[in-house]
Amino acid sequence: MAKVLILGGGFAGVVAAQQLARELGDEHQITLVSRSRKFIFYPALVRLAFGKCELSDVSFDVRRSMLNRRVNFVEGEVARICPDEQKVIIAHGEVEGDLTYDYLIFALGRRLATERITGFYEHAHHLLTVEKALEFGKAVTSFAGGRIVVGECPGARMPVPVYETAFALSQLLQDSDRHKPYHITVVSPDSPGKQLDDSNVGNALLSTLNARGIEFLSDFPIDRVTAGAATTSNGHGINFDLLMLVPPFAGAPAASHLGITNAESYINVDSTMRVNGLDRVYAAGDCVNFSGPKLGHMAVRQAEVAAANLIAEINGLQPTSRYIHEVKVVIDASGSDSLYIHKDLWTDEPASFYQGRFWTWAKLAQEKYWETMHS
Ligand SMILES: Cc1cc2nc3c(=O)[nH]c(=O)nc-3n(C[C@H](O)[C@H](O)[C@H](O)COP(=O)(O)OP(=O)(O)OC[C@H]3O[C@@H](n4cnc5c(N)ncnc54)[C@H](O)[C@@H]3O)c2cc1C
Repeated sequence: MAKVLILGGGFAGVVAAQQLARELGDEHQITLVSRSRKFIFYPALVRLAFGKCELSDVSFDVRRSMLNRRVNFVEGEVARICPDEQKVIIAHGEVEGDLTYDYLIFALGRRLATERITGFYEHAHHLLTVEKALEFGKAVTSFAGGRIVVGECPGARMPVPVYETAFALSQLLQDSDRHKPYHITVVSPDSPGKQLDDSNVGNALLSTLNARGIEFLSDFPIDRVTAGAATTSNGHGINFDLLMLVPPFAGAPAASHLGITNAESYINVDSTMRVNGLDRVYAAGDCVNFSGPKLGHMAVRQAEVAAANLIAEINGLQPTSRYIHEVKVVIDASGSDSLYIHKDLWTDEPASFYQGRFWTWAKLAQEKYWETMHS
């Protein structure tokens, strides 16, 4: 019998747990630990902020979903992992103390490093949690006109919600019957498409922004926010009446003391999703050290690979499943300019992209499909 412990009840943790439960015999014990019993479908948070869906549409009870699939669920806060003793320390929650394992999958996502931007907490909105998305939604509703700035801070690694927010704002304000003079600016430390290393994607994004009258400022690495102004490390500044920024990201702290991460605390893995330098430990999702943006479909594929290889290992076989690092993402512009981008980040092949109203529908359908398959 093997004891498998999965840390994190997000995209990667849920997919790994369900695959293990399906494919491992009943004699093996599978446990998932997460700080909350709620699964959040993060890609829907922009729609949540703009009142286009309810919280119940974008979340489900992960504990119930796990128990239905014979996976033990522990609601608890992972403090750190101790690979030498094959145990994980739980700081508080349903269990306090140690949980031991034979095999581990680390899927704790990323941390928001808001402390790196002076004044972020006090003066900037973001929408990377349910609470913050709802707060931002309220600020949008009470927006009385003026300059709106949305963007990414250095190290943010998540451009999709920035563009989707800019498109949603422009549509909302255009449709609004009250006259509110406004100007929307998207700011980024990079040029558009830089995270994909593809100028065609960048040009498509720029022309979509231009068509909606949205300004784009590149080379704008914000490092400080005060009431009404954001300034950059290279001496620029911008005033705002409403600000939404994706803060810098860092890897989950529970593994950062082990010498298995890069300087940003992202875990080093190979393409089988095994953690470099540790036996019987895998990692998947936003926590791993791969280039480019952090995306849910990557987390899902990485979890499938990790689970397949862990099962092979339990059965005394070599891991043969390999992850390929691709971006497959829809940027929903709620119109005929919604964009689908596909790019293999480990080759020089140019990205392919398509635009059309269909992609808005496809993104919604994907959300429903996820809930049906995993809740
Ligand atoms: C607003 C927004 C829009 C997005 N849009 C898209 C999109 O359009 N397409 C796309 O592909 N991706 C999108 N993403 C990215 C996608 O949501 C992430 O890549 C995905 O959630 C990563 O999955 P994960 O399992 O690695 O991490 P998460 O989903 O973050 O899950 C991590 C889990 O670990 C738990 N956890 C963390 N630390 C601890 C701890 N110490 N102890 C116990 N539990 C802990 C958390 O509670 C959570 O359950 C978006 C994200 C956001 C925020």
